[in-house]
Formats: sequence, structure tokens, C-alpha cells
Amino acid sequence: MLHSAARYYGIVLDWKKEPHRRFNPLTREWLLVSPHRTARPWQGQTEEIPVVRQPEYDPQCYLCPGNGRAGGKRNPVYTSTFVFDNDFAAMKPDTPLDRFEQDGLLLAAGEPGVCRVVCFSPRHDLTVANMELPDLRRVVDVWVEQFGELGAMPLVNHVQILENRGPMMGASNPHPHCQIWSNHSIPNEVGKETASQRDWLAQKGSCLLCDYARLEQANRERIVDENSDFLALVPFWAIWPFEIMLLAKRHMTDIDGLTDRERDSLADILKRTTARYDRLFNVSFPYSFGFHQRPTDGESHQEWHLHAHFFPPLLRSATVRKFLVGYEMLCEPQRDITAESAAERLRSV
Ligand SMILES: [Zn+2]
Ligand SMILES: [Zn+2]
Ligand SMILES: [Zn+2]
Repeated sequence: MLHSAARYYGIVLDWKKEPHRRFNPLTREWLLVSPHRTARPWQGQTEEIPVVRQPEYDPQCYLCPGNGRAGGKRNPVYTSTFVFDNDFAAMKPDTPLDRFEQDGLLLAAGEPGVCRVVCFSPRHDLTVANMELPDLRRVVDVWVEQFGELGAMPLVNHVQILENRGPMMGASNPHPHCQIWSNHSIPNEVGKETASQRDWLAQKGSCLLCDYARLEQANRERIVDENSDFLALVPFWAIWPFEIMLLAKRHMTDIDGLTDRERDSLADILKRTTARYDRLFNVSFPYSFGFHQRPTDGESHQEWHLHAHFFPPLLRSATVRKFLVGYEMLCEPQRDITAESAAERLRSV
């Protein structure tokens, strides 16, 4: 189907070898794919980095049970998960919504919000990939509780659950945890995805990501893994080399829509995906992860389809990463290996 769409001056473009652009229907932005460049010789470093074994408990860690935090508070001796307000929150709930404007050029608005931290486990040395499924299921339950609690706050119109894993992604502490940023405005990326899903529903009468999940399930080329309720795939429009999207197979607007079984399935696909990542380059794989779901602004947002993004920086080995620089900053994202070959690599480990 893409083959015929790619006809140009009577020549059929081989989109697995020739430079081309791909369209992301969620953000409605294009990216450049240069698969011919994967043949060029690689001269960078490819050595493996030594595995740093973490202790089960670190007396210096501000997230471990019973330890003091920088803000002067002390963690309880928690035994499963632990949620607290971020001591260095990027937003505060009492910020006024005042706006400032000058000549349409200088525009600013106060942004109230609540930022929390969720410790996944009392164990300092675990990651999502090596946590037990019942413990990961407890983390899913906490996410659902927090989405409901924060989303119900009048000042909160969007709740972002996110995990930065590994120093390469700026995670200063290896203790397994995530952050939740909830605030008044709809952030840029969520705003783009809201508009595209809303327009798709209005124009086609169907859900964009339900339609996409159906297409990928029929094609299978980009599917990396799946269970009864979730797909893990490299999206056609992936920017990061081994980017993965988790898609709920059933239509739901948010994690609160998950059934009991689907919560278990989410824990399962998270563990399988992160363990697969770890096997790819034999390293605890760094990534930024987060859910995308409906805004909590009081509307039903039937256009929204629950999904999650993994954005991992690694390209060729434990030490060789992709940078978004130069052309990416000035023009648009670019990748070398295709989404299809990345999916094939990920399926093979
Ligand atoms: Zn710790
Ligand atoms: Zn859907
Ligand atoms: Zn998204």
C-alpha cells in the first residue's frame, strides 16, 4: 500500500533502502528515515559497560525505606509501594492562574500543579524488568489510584505518569520509581495527540489507535510482543531507534478503564518489554517511559485511546546512543534503521 503511494516519476520507491519521510498521525509531524546509511561503516565504541550491582538497601538513597530525604522528611519503613509529594516539585498547587501578555509577543501564565514520586518497591536494586509480577501489579494499582485522585482535583486537567530509567536519561537515583506531574494546562504533546484523535473520530467515526492497532495486527511486521490485552510495537513513525508503543487492544480512554485482568496484563507487558530491552545490548536499558491518556478536564474524551511510549536512547550498544541534534533541532527528527528492522531485532532477543 505504501509501495504504490510512494510512486514517484514512475519509479517504485524501495522504502526499506531509500531515504523517505514518514508521518506520525498522532502528532501530525513528519520524520526523515535514511535506511541506506545503516550500511556505512561504524567506527565508534561498542564495548560493554561493566554491570554495577546495586545493594538491596542503600543508606545514602533518599528513596529507600526509613531514610531521610533532602527536604528534611523521613520515609516510612514501607514494604510495597510508597507515594509522596516531590520535595523538589516543578509546580506548586497554590500558584495563581494569572496571565501576562505584551503585544502578543510576550505571553506567560501561572501554572499550578502537583508533582509526586512513586517508589515501586522497597528494594533499591530492582528494576521493572526484574520485579515480580504481583509487585508490578501493585504499581499498576497505585497508578490507577493516583490518576483518579489527582485527576479529580479541580486545578488538575492533565496527569502525566512517567519513568526516567538510567543516568543516560537523567535518572539520578537507580531506586525503582516514577514521577507523576499533574497540572492545569494540557501539555504540548498531549494537546497534539488530543487534536489528532478528535479530528480522526470526527472525520472517520472511529478511533485512530483502534484503527492503527487493527492495521498492525493484520500486518505484524512491527509487532514486537503481545499478550491478551496489549500490543508492544515499534510504531511506523518511531523516532528513537528502539522506540516501542504499548497499545491497549480494547478501546479505553485511560488506565481507570482497565479491568482486573487487564491490570495484570499491563504488568506483564511492562515486564516483558523492559526485560527484552535489557537483553538487546546486555545492559540495564535506559529509557523514558510514560502513559498517554485522556485529559482530566471534565470531558469524556472518547477520542482518546490509552497507550504508553518507551523512548530509549541507545542505538548500537550499551554505550552508543542516538542524539537529537543538528538537523533534528533545526528541521525534523531523523533515523537510520527502519522501524521494521528495529522490530525484527527486538523480536529476536
Ligand atoms: Zn533506594
Ligand atoms: Zn480506541
Ligand atoms: Zn502518545
